Amino acid sequence: MRQSPVDLHLHSTASDGRLAPADVVARAAQAGVKLMALTDHDTLDGLDAAAGAARVEGIDCRAGIELSARWARGVVHIVGLDLDPSAAVLVAGVARQQRERRQRADRIAERLARAGMADIRDRVATLASAGVPGRAHFARALVEAGHARDMPHAFDRYLQRGRPGYAPVDWATIDEVVGWIHRAGGLAVFAHPLRYRLSRGALRAAVQAFVTAGGDAIEVASGGGGRDDLAAASALAKRFGLEASIGSDFHDPDFPWIAIGRLPAVPPDLKPIWRRWGAGYD
Ligand code: AMP
Ligand code: MN
Ligand code: MN
Ligand code: MN
Repeated sequence: MRQSPVDLHLHSTASDGRLAPADVVARAAQAGVKLMALTDHDTLDGLDAAAGAARVEGIDCRAGIELSARWARGVVHIVGLDLDPSAAVLVAGVARQQRERRQRADRIAERLARAGMADIRDRVATLASAGVPGRAHFARALVEAGHARDMPHAFDRYLQRGRPGYAPVDWATIDEVVGWIHRAGGLAVFAHPLRYRLSRGALRAAVQAFVTAGGDAIEVASGGGGRDDLAAASALAKRFGLEASIGSDFHDPDFPWIAIGRLPAVPPDLKPIWRRWGAGYD
């Protein structure tokens, strides 16, 4: 896989990433990325630090976010790009998502304690010291405490629906989150379409709901995805008339199979979303 000059989906310690925002920017610059976006889960907290680091590194860093949205009985992720982090509607929406996340973290900790894992709450507080604990922090704490062999195992065993550490969240709707992004002057991107456990029909219905809400683009490439994923996501982009975005969804330098900027080019028959900003990268 080539190194792409563009990576529009990256996480930091502001949510469940493992590097501070400035370190994500420095690492992106080092990897040859010229245009990036920091897109932490339901928070705008890392964006100032990222912008400052981007000036030092001489890299184009757009303000972003990854918002969780309720869909059917589950959740889809909508990335917002090039938005104004001080826009009131967005700030209020994010505050609501953060409140939900805080309540969920409390409930997960309680449920795990009741199941005999009382040590998890403190571990999670340490791991998520820069923000609100997400499920990835719980997964890591469960691994560190010896309750699971790795993070996917921790998710399967404790954190998925029906498991002892599961707690539901009342996320905003797709309509609402696309609205917040647009009212902040940003572009809305349907994130990693092939990562949801949805049937083909259910996935199309979710993308249709996103299009109806006014969504702009879909991620045709995500970290760890192969040729088949690129083809399938590109077919969705064409079918629904969406522009294309690419982003690694990088979280952790200790997971080398998902590296910053290791992404394919957008197929020539699709429009890269960054053309909107006049950027000529392939
Ligand atoms: P949350 O938004 O707090 O519900 O957590 C979702 C995050 O957990 C995702 O963005 C991933 O970083 C991580 N995640 C979800 N499923 C898994 C899995 N099976 N294994 C490892 N990490 C996962
Ligand atoms: Mn994550
Ligand atoms: Mn996601
Ligand atoms: Mn992500």
